[in-house]
Amino acid sequence: MAQNRIQFQQGLSLPAFLARYGTEAQCESALEEARWPDGFRCPRCGGGAHCVLHRPRKWFQCQVCRHQASLTAGTVMQGTKLPLTTWFLAIYLIGQDKTGLSALELKRQPGVSYPTAWALHHKLMKAMAEREAHYTLDGIVQVDDAYLGGERTGGKVGRGSENKVAFVAAVSLDDAGHPRRAKLTPVKTSSAEVMGQWARTWLAPGSTVRSDGLGCFRAVTQADCRHEPTVGGGRKSRDLPEFQWVNTVLGNLKTRLSGAHHAFAFVRYAERYLAAFAYRFNRRFDLAALPKRLLVAAVGYGPAPLCSLRSAESH
Ligand SMILES: [Zn+2]
Repeated sequence: MAQNRIQFQQGLSLPAFLARYGTEAQCESALEEARWPDGFRCPRCGGGAHCVLHRPRKWFQCQVCRHQASLTAGTVMQGTKLPLTTWFLAIYLIGQDKTGLSALELKRQPGVSYPTAWALHHKLMKAMAEREAHYTLDGIVQVDDAYLGGERTGGKVGRGSENKVAFVAAVSLDDAGHPRRAKLTPVKTSSAEVMGQWARTWLAPGSTVRSDGLGCFRAVTQADCRHEPTVGGGRKSRDLPEFQWVNTVLGNLKTRLSGAHHAFAFVRYAERYLAAFAYRFNRRFDLAALPKRLLVAAVGYGPAPLCSLRSAESH
C-alpha cells in the first residue's frame, strides 16, 4: 500500500545531513544558493554587480547603489545571532518531523535554550504556513469539520473545553483515488457563510466536494464547486470509505499532537501547527529533499519578529 512506501522511504539521514550542512561555510553556501540561485541580486535596486565582504559572515555590497545586504537580511533568519548550523539543524529536524520541538531540545547545541528552540520552531512553522497558503485544492476533495482539542484530534474531550479550535480538514484526490494534497484551516464556526468563504479561498472552481450530510457544506457551491453529500448521510457517514483519506489525515494529526506537542495553545497557534502538518503531508513522497525545500521556504518568507510570533492569530 502507498502508505508503507512513504513510511519506509529513506529520507536524509542525520550523518548525511551533517556531511552536507555541518559547517558554517557549507551553510553559507547553501543559504546563498537558496536565496539567489542565479547569483546575487541587490534587494534594493536589483543589480547583479557586487563585491563580497566578510564580517565574519558573508555580506554583499551592490556596486550600483552601494546597498549592503547580509545573507540573512530579509529572510526568516534576519538578525539572528545563532550559528547557521543551528538553523540548518532545526530545518532538518522540523522538516523530517521525527521529533519536532522536543528534538530541538534533545539534540540542542550548547547555548540553545528553550525560548530559542521555541522561536526557531515557530519561525519555521510560519514559513511552512506561508508556503502552504500558495496552494488551492482541485479535483475531488473530501471535506470534514473537526476540532483541535476535540475528541477527533486529541486533547480534552467535551464541548466545554476552552482550548478548542474548529477547523476544516480537506484532502484532494487524484484520478486513482489516492490523496494528493491536504489543507487544514482553522475557522470560527462551521456555518454556511464560513464554508462559502473557505471554498472561495481554497478550492479551484469546478472541484467536486464530498462531505457528510452537515448542511453548511452545501455552501461550497458558492465557489462554483459541485457538492456530493453522502446520500442519507447524517454525521455517522463520515466513517464510510468515501471519507477514508480525510479520516486518515485526521488520525495522523491526532497521533502527532498526542505525541510530540501534547497540548499547546490551540486557540493562538492552531493555524501554523495545522499548516506545518499539511506542509509535511503534502511533501511526503520526497522526504530526502524536504530540508532543502524548507530552506527555500525559510529564505522566501521574510523576517518574523518574536512579538508577531506570539500574538494571537485571527481566523
Ligand atoms: Zn543595489
